[in-house]
Amino acid sequence: MRLVVDLTRCQGYAQCVFLAPEVFELHEDEALLYNPAVPDDQLERVRQAAAACPVQAILVGQEASVGAR
Ligand code: SF4
Repeated sequence: MRLVVDLTRCQGYAQCVFLAPEVFELHEDEALLYNPAVPDDQLERVRQAAAACPVQAILVGQEASVGAR
């Protein structure tokens, strides 16, 4: 499943890192890194992360295709 994070929206709240640490990683300078190709066994966690993100910066699946530039 495809994943896109809108880094212009992301405020580094790290909710996604807590919910799906195998996909999202936050570095010391608050730059968010993520795996854009979500493994199937991480999909549910990523969906939870998308729902929990305070600024709705996480787009998965169909949303990611629409949101990608
Ligand atoms: S939860 Fe949202 S705002 Fe927070 S680090 Fe993840 S993508 Fe960024």
